[in-house]
Amino acid sequence: MQSSSWQSSLLALPFARTGESLARHTTIRAGGLALVWVEPQNEAELVAFLELNQTVGAPLYVLGSGSNVVPTNEGWDGALLHLGKGFDFSRVEESVLIAGSAAFLPKLTRFALDNQLGNFEWACGIPGSVGGSVWGNAGARGFNGKGFEGRDSAADFAGCVAFDRRGVRHELGRGDVEFAYRRSSLGELIVTEARFSLKPLSVEQARVHKDGVRQLLEVRGRTQPANAASAGCIWKNPKVEGCVGAGALVEQCGLKGRHCGAALVSEVHANFIVNAGGATATQIRELARYVEEEVEDQTGIKLEREARFW
Ligand SMILES: Cc1cc2nc3c(=O)[nH]c(=O)nc-3n(C[C@H](O)[C@H](O)[C@H](O)COP(=O)(O)OP(=O)(O)OC[C@H]3O[C@@H](n4cnc5c(N)ncnc54)[C@H](O)[C@@H]3O)c2cc1C
Repeated sequence: MQSSSWQSSLLALPFARTGESLARHTTIRAGGLALVWVEPQNEAELVAFLELNQTVGAPLYVLGSGSNVVPTNEGWDGALLHLGKGFDFSRVEESVLIAGSAAFLPKLTRFALDNQLGNFEWACGIPGSVGGSVWGNAGARGFNGKGFEGRDSAADFAGCVAFDRRGVRHELGRGDVEFAYRRSSLGELIVTEARFSLKPLSVEQARVHKDGVRQLLEVRGRTQPANAASAGCIWKNPKVEGCVGAGALVEQCGLKGRHCGAALVSEVHANFIVNAGGATATQIRELARYVEEEVEDQTGIKLEREARFW
């Protein structure tokens, strides 16, 4: 089907619109327009869109908080699905945290601790949504009541609700989803809700964990360009003996501060490319490619991307 034809069919949905700027919906603040922006507020609207799209066949991409994607200057010539505010909910049942896919991770960390539930501290400084974090198995240093240790979405994952592209609803349990480093087996499924089985805390323990969160945020503020426009870590840490991490590798190659227009390898942490103001998606992509070529030329190591480049 020609784009003009599926475009008009999809735009008849009351929760779809055209010409939405990706620069407004990505934390790296770059990218062209989405031809059709679809923002359902509940499962019924999501199903109506997916069923219609089965017939009209627009290319489909799911966007959460846009904190791990690098779009293109051309934007998205298809339907961009963004779960709306109706999917931003959270509640606690016994020690299980249940959250809609649009729930924001830092807010959810606070919500968990306010409900005396621990183990979600790793998410306190990640500006992503629950859907994106489960799909990509986001993770970071967390706090266990005594010290800091790495943790990820998979660690306490107890299940999720997800829709396939035909609009069929699936309830998945812990054992139905496989996770690996920054990856899951969810593939084309659209996650709408997730459950995490967390650690019950006393009032005093919750207070200690809140202190832990403050420390985690303080370290992030010092060691990452947390307030600059970025897509988070661009590269995965290479699985190479003796390699300290992608950021250190890029830094060792002398690439900190390299730029392409206003796209800049962060001076604070070289695994971040920041948009210092008005960088285009093309400049960001060119800079990423340049860094990869330089690192490979100098060290023989091929960097693998963590951020999703369209
Ligand atoms: C300053 C900064 C710090 C960061 N720190 C970390 C960190 O410490 N650890 C870490 O792991 N990440 C980090 N990130 C990256 C990012 O925040 C996480 O990967 C986050 O989980 C992505 O969620 P999102 O909603 O923004 O997903 P998006 O960027 O919108 O999408 C990422 C991927 O998830 C898919 N997706 C999104 N929502 C859904 C859904 N509902 N169903 C199915 N698929 C979906 C998208 O199609 C896309 O492929 C950081 C980013 C920034 C900007």
